[in-house]
Amino acid sequence: MSESARGDQGGSTGETARASRDAAPVAADAGDGTRAVRAGLPEAVKYEPTLPGPVFAAHFHLPGDPTGPYTYGRDENPTWTLLERAVGELEAPGRDDAETLVFASGMAATSAVLFSQLRAGDVCVLPDDGYQALPLVRAQLETYGIEVRTAPTRGDAQLDVLDGAKLLWVETPSNPGLDVCDIRRLAEAAHARGALVAVDNTLATPLGQRPLELGADFAVASGTKQLTGHGDILLGYVVGRDTEAMAAVRRWRKIVGAIPGPMEAWLAHRSIATLQLRVDRQSTTALAVAQALRERPEVTGLRYPGLPDDPAHKIAAQQMRRYGCVVSFTLPTRARADRFLDALRLVDDATSFGGVRSTAERRGRWGGDAVPEGFIRLSVGAEDPEDLVADVLRALDTSTA
Ligand SMILES: *Cc1c(COP(=O)(O)O)cnc(C)c1O
Repeated sequence: MSESARGDQGGSTGETARASRDAAPVAADAGDGTRAVRAGLPEAVKYEPTLPGPVFAAHFHLPGDPTGPYTYGRDENPTWTLLERAVGELEAPGRDDAETLVFASGMAATSAVLFSQLRAGDVCVLPDDGYQALPLVRAQLETYGIEVRTAPTRGDAQLDVLDGAKLLWVETPSNPGLDVCDIRRLAEAAHARGALVAVDNTLATPLGQRPLELGADFAVASGTKQLTGHGDILLGYVVGRDTEAMAAVRRWRKIVGAIPGPMEAWLAHRSIATLQLRVDRQSTTALAVAQALRERPEVTGLRYPGLPDDPAHKIAAQQMRRYGCVVSFTLPTRARADRFLDALRLVDDATSFGGVRSTAERRGRWGGDAVPEGFIRLSVGAEDPEDLVADVLRALDTSTA
């Protein structure tokens, strides 16, 4: 069916025509703010909304031969199409060879890459200090006969275990330790051995770094965190530049059904409009918080890749344009850390990161991460920097034993 025939039917298929109409991509050299507010918008059409609303459809009118773009709601949805264009314009501006797929969560996206690319007998290299669900993924990969090797993010240590690998998975900056590895160097080494490279770009966001430009085959992320930034939806995405590999990722999404709902996809797209405002504000404040924490004698192990003397800063400065909203540090004891969290007024004691409201947690409460008992992961929100710094310092002052 032609676009116009579909549009002529009105109702929900009119929505389909609207969302599948031509994109109005932002110039590749536009600034990040311009790109964020316009990302994924369709061409202007008189009397149509600038960002079409969510399309709720399990199926679409489909007489005759079942060809796309919209057939059944697990395969494609016009609201995803616009969101996928938006994410693609941020992760891979100006690249025609990149394809974007959105998922129900970051783990859905992660699993889609790993489980669609790896077969029994393959070798996969993961970081040993990455996202806390990676050990679960490792155990699952191993039950399928895939060999998993791990090495730390720091010092590009994954280089040492690359021989014979089919896929290298990199997470930089790593969560929660905030170590950074050299994406370009690792990608070159992996490609020289015939391995594909995936980078978990959750913490940096596409405004912090663009893994595909640094040589990665896939940029994968949880959109649950700073990409959408309000702590109210789960989302994931994969951007890839290898057509065959992306076809396998798409097939995996179809068979597992790990798809986002139209409402979540639309909320995500709406949220991306403020990405540059949020990321700039949050990273500027994160640096101010880190600088304030550095002056405190009870704080050890302070990490923020944007601090000029942070061990990760040199590589971070080469490949990142913004250093993220997460600061990590250690207080002397578990009890002190708990009292500190309790004393904070502007910072919610909650997991996750990247939201407009600051959160912090004692990471050791989950088990799994190799961190000290007093280790705190602080996610800096969009509050006024002076207010947040004052709250953190006051909570440190009042939480001494
Ligand atoms: C949260 C997170 C994930 C998983 O994302 P979900 O949306 O929670 O499934 C993956 N990687 C990193 C680095 C994360 O922080």
